[in-house]
Amino acid sequence: MPQSFGDDALGYFTERLDQAVTRAALIGTLHRAKRNKAFQDSRLVGLAIDGTTAGHSTHRGCEYCRPQHNANKEVIAYSHQMASISVVGTGLSLPFDVEPYGPGDSEYAAGQRLLARARSQLGARFADYLVVDGEYATAPFLHAADRAGIPVIARLKDNLPELSQSVERRFATCPPTRVYRDGKDRLEVWDADDFAPWETLRWDRVRVIRYRQHKPDKTIVEAQWLTNLPSRRVGSLSLYHLAKSRWEIENQGFNDAKNRYGLEHICHHHPNSILIGWLLVLLVLVIERLYRIRYLHRGTHRVLSADQLCRVLWLSLSKPSFDTG
Ligand SMILES: [Zn+2]
Repeated sequence: MPQSFGDDALGYFTERLDQAVTRAALIGTLHRAKRNKAFQDSRLVGLAIDGTTAGHSTHRGCEYCRPQHNANKEVIAYSHQMASISVVGTGLSLPFDVEPYGPGDSEYAAGQRLLARARSQLGARFADYLVVDGEYATAPFLHAADRAGIPVIARLKDNLPELSQSVERRFATCPPTRVYRDGKDRLEVWDADDFAPWETLRWDRVRVIRYRQHKPDKTIVEAQWLTNLPSRRVGSLSLYHLAKSRWEIENQGFNDAKNRYGLEHICHHHPNSILIGWLLVLLVLVIERLYRIRYLHRGTHRVLSADQLCRVLWLSLSKPSFDTG
């Protein structure tokens, strides 16, 4: 008699799986994609690191469930936290590793572990830059990137008051360095590569760009980024696009992984089961994207989205079969 197996068996199984094997599969897939020229349309390949939460629940499911507070500091829910790393800036976002962090740990420390692991597994020449949000723009993280041999582009916010103030003093009083037409947007860019590093940062100089993006609907987006990428290698407009590639880890990374690939749901609250579940979701996402966006795109037809492709598949299944005999 065939017997079905229950959730307990799956829980027992995933608690004992070796995460290193799934991580190696993801790294191997990226190496193969690069060898097969999946990123060849982009001059530079980027990496982005950022944090997110998943597995929201109203009660605590395990010791790694972290409380979420409302404005009055009352616990309203629990969730699991992770930092993730993704290939960006190539027209093909591929999130390829996650690092969970629990009580006593931080997104920032998890991000540094991710970066060190990516460097040792991908090799020094896989990516050309790393792009991160403002909370990673600290001397220890930038030094970790130096050790990994990768230039960084980091959002400049008020958490670096010394640099922010000298940037404001210089840029507020002078016209933009360059004005561009970028698609339908008008873009004003201020760019200078000779700001003094703040006290703890062991860089000779800091390059900062500020952009003011005027969209056709009159909205204006303004932001500042710091970097150690030299201007002779990456011009102002290119640097603007590299900085914008950070959004991929939020949109094509976390949002897609949660809404379309099931990253949000935790089947079994055990640290190893959760990590294995997340890594398997990333492996599925990476293979699916490589297949759909690169392999299926050979030829002249346009790239289909995953749900368009699914619809085409269903329609093709309903075609009348014909007699081959
Ligand atoms: Zn939990």
